[in-house]
Amino acid sequence: MEPSNFNLDYRRKMLRKRKKRRQIITSAILISLILFPLILSIKSESNFITTIQKVDDSDKKEFIVCIDAGHGDWDAGTVGVSGCEEKDIALNIALKLGELLSSEDDIKVIYTRTSDSLPWLKTANDSLKERIKISNLANANLFISLHCNSNYDDTNAKGVETWYNPSLKANEDFASYLQHELSSLNYTTNRGLKFYEDKDEALAVLEKTNATSALVEFGFISNFQDEYYLKSKPGQSACAEAVYKGIIDYKNSLSQ
Ligand SMILES: [Zn+2]
Repeated sequence: MEPSNFNLDYRRKMLRKRKKRRQIITSAILISLILFPLILSIKSESNFITTIQKVDDSDKKEFIVCIDAGHGDWDAGTVGVSGCEEKDIALNIALKLGELLSSEDDIKVIYTRTSDSLPWLKTANDSLKERIKISNLANANLFISLHCNSNYDDTNAKGVETWYNPSLKANEDFASYLQHELSSLNYTTNRGLKFYEDKDEALAVLEKTNATSALVEFGFISNFQDEYYLKSKPGQSACAEAVYKGIIDYKNSLSQ
């Protein structure tokens, strides 16, 4: 073989080798591009399952209370005579209540919201679904929704009331403990327990949650006296304490 031919052959061989190497590298990049998102999605899915399992485990040891501060973000709820908003009163009482309940050794607190920012809030309907989902995924034992009323046709209307879903006796019992404690504060009139007879009128959060549930309307913020009390720090603390006592009393009644 002449040296020039040898060189040509050698160069061709090298070129073929280089081409093959390039092909291998390209395929490796393509495969990893396809596999990477797949691995990521499997990983996030397994994280999700772990989170739920963790909640299930803690359920065996603890009594779980889901606190739902009504409204939030762009949904202010009703507005008081002096301009205060239902969503803020509900959140303040919710956080205070959560603090009190968390001090109990065997109670685990779950919130549907802990601030005014609700990234998942797109429509009021979404909001209710999400609140129910949070409570149900956590296997909450109790679900309590916190609200304020208003009636601008009659600004004399005032008073505290507690709503429950009558399909379970437990809901009525839970609501009675709450209403008893709240009406004992004597800051307003006692409007008593309320329940809906028609499923169409059902308050969605009470209808769909798996937990024993109740919805408290602390008072009418369209009424000067109710609003004055409910927007004040001492008023909010007293309401949180009353709800806390109601929850503890109901919980104790279960073990009797
Ligand atoms: Zn409300």
